[in-house]
Amino acid sequence: MDCEDVRLHLHDDQRGHLGPELHRELRTHLEGCPACAHEEAAEHMLTEVLERRLPQHPASLALKRRLLAQWPAAPVESRPWWRGWRRALVPALASALVLAVGLPLYHELWSGARGDATAMVAEAVNDHVRVLQRDRPLDVESGGIHEVKPWFAGRLDFAPVVSFEGDAEFPLQGGTVGYFVDRKAAVFVYKRRLHPVSLFVFRAEGLPWPARGLTSIGGGAGYTSVSRGFNVILWRAGDLGYALVSDVDARELGRLAAKLARG
Ligand SMILES: [Zn+2]
Repeated sequence: MDCEDVRLHLHDDQRGHLGPELHRELRTHLEGCPACAHEEAAEHMLTEVLERRLPQHPASLALKRRLLAQWPAAPVESRPWWRGWRRALVPALASALVLAVGLPLYHELWSGARGDATAMVAEAVNDHVRVLQRDRPLDVESGGIHEVKPWFAGRLDFAPVVSFEGDAEFPLQGGTVGYFVDRKAAVFVYKRRLHPVSLFVFRAEGLPWPARGLTSIGGGAGYTSVSRGFNVILWRAGDLGYALVSDVDARELGRLAAKLARG
């Protein structure tokens, strides 16, 4: 395993996704390679900082449903000492449960797709910051889209479809491999004046794509949002999902999204 392999697998390893053999190979390399060990430490620290700074997401709908399903089996009947207290405890616990689970559940059902989109938007910002904080944000410096795209071959299990090669307004800087939620992503970095713009391209299936609050983007539909001072635009095309993130203003980012989505 060389340094590049290690960098590609660090994330998987920290998320416990590496098989035991790869994990051992990676550890062996880290012990003998100060540069990669430094990268690993930085990655750890960044993850910690991001997790502390990110808003805590409410428990998922699935978890809340599980909690609700388990509620009738609460140990009210099975613990004799409770019996005398039942009259007083059950209404109190029920109120507490309504507050703890019911209201957020109601809120989540009511706000529907928006709750899901919030998690997707936060993930996009998180990943953008992660890419920019790396010692070496780009693995392939751009000599144009025709150098960046082939670089991804063999590093991803899909072919990222991006045909906008950059222009004077949004020059393409290069690319790297990143993550979006639980999957690998091709990251294309463009620039607007001094502001980097990350485009994440990843397999779209299995993610909670917002179905409402969409706006028109280059003839398709996308979801635009702001999180922690970053503008984020999400859209899908075929099997692929796209997340565009930057601190440039929303109108400028929208213009780049339209160029990208038009293909
Ligand atoms: Zn190394």
